[in-house]
Amino acid sequence: MNNNIQPIRGMKDLYAVDMDKYEFIISTARKISKKYCYSLIETPIVESTAVFHMAIGNETDVVSKEMYTFLDKGKESLTLRPEGTAGVMRAIASNHLMQSTSLPLKLMYYGPMFRYDRPQKGRYRQFHQIGFEYLGNKGAYTDAITISLAYEILVNIGLYNCTVFINSLGGLSSRQDYIKALVRFFSLYKEKLSPDSQIRLDKNPLRILDSKDLNDRELCKLAPKIQDYLNKEDRTYFNNVCNLLNKFGIRYEIDSNLVRGLDYYTHTTFEIKLSDGIYTDAIGGGGRYDNLLKLFGGPDISGIGFALGIERLMMLIDYKSNLESKIAVIPVSENEDNYSLDIFQNLLQYDFPTEFIWNATSLRKKIEIASKLNCKFLLIIGEDEVKTDQITVKQLTSNEDISIKQKKINRNQIINFLKTEII
Ligand code: AMP
Repeated sequence: MNNNIQPIRGMKDLYAVDMDKYEFIISTARKISKKYCYSLIETPIVESTAVFHMAIGNETDVVSKEMYTFLDKGKESLTLRPEGTAGVMRAIASNHLMQSTSLPLKLMYYGPMFRYDRPQKGRYRQFHQIGFEYLGNKGAYTDAITISLAYEILVNIGLYNCTVFINSLGGLSSRQDYIKALVRFFSLYKEKLSPDSQIRLDKNPLRILDSKDLNDRELCKLAPKIQDYLNKEDRTYFNNVCNLLNKFGIRYEIDSNLVRGLDYYTHTTFEIKLSDGIYTDAIGGGGRYDNLLKLFGGPDISGIGFALGIERLMMLIDYKSNLESKIAVIPVSENEDNYSLDIFQNLLQYDFPTEFIWNATSLRKKIEIASKLNCKFLLIIGEDEVKTDQITVKQLTSNEDISIKQKKINRNQIINFLKTEII
């Protein structure tokens, strides 16, 4: 067997600091979502292919090009989920969750998603999202509060500098007017459109606006804008959302080309990007969907949701792992093992990430191990330390520069000392 097997292209193993970041992002999002009264849901990673065809739409890139679809042994067509909302709506309908819960229903989920996209920095074939769905209470308050939840999560993981790009796709009647205008416009340039977009022109003209083809994108810049086709009611709705974002102090820009690549959106759509313009891909996005739950046989209740891409967040946050301040408790010889073990357990009680390094033949080797494990503080316990209850604490900076500081600290003061040094 080949002993250099790598993960599948576009998929990667997550470990070490990446997993710390992953955990930090999920736990921060979960902590904040609890304030907003969301409960957790987990749905299967694999669904019947029809779930995504129905919800996302056949002409979208996600469904037509990017899905991992296969026949199982019973010849049923299954798909690895490319996004979370469709599965959550299916689950709400399958489990009759709307009957057993009073509105609104607020659900958070997280986990892997799969899209056969071209891998590049921040774009993978298996990636992870944290998602939120809010069913019921359709209105500007709900939309703005949902966006502020996304914003608050980003601030709390250290992304202070984000901008929300927002648009409205209006309700059915505004959108129908807009689609007619799009068809009129793109029909004039039909032969200039990519083959995919020529098909979209007949089947789902709105999707031309997501095209990645460069010629299509140039034409899209000239195309009619949905903002000019919103009826009075939809315009008021959208203005109210924007006014609330002002009130919440959320930085946003209206982007009238933002239609997002999935068919189910209605009214508010949004994407969040870093404001500095250095990394320009979205770190999250979402919007309102009026008809999705009904499609799955659930009640006719509108929802709004969004998803944040965990890999992109991991790439952008400046994260200091608490493992960067690991402590090593090192008995000089077997004689100090017991005394050292007590100190080790004491540190664990106070939640310090701690290694107990007893298993090497000399103190030098034990210090080398501590250094390789990236321990920053070494508590070295020899005969003298045990006799006097004064512990030698060494602080390491890097592998080359082993000790920069060394102090004797009274055993009773160790916890206080480490707390002030580490924080
Ligand atoms: P979407 O479901 O397309 O609205 O995407 C929501 C978020 O998921 C995006 O803003 C990205 O942060 C992330 N995302 C989408 N596709 C990928 C991908 N192929 N690789 C990594 N992250 C992704």
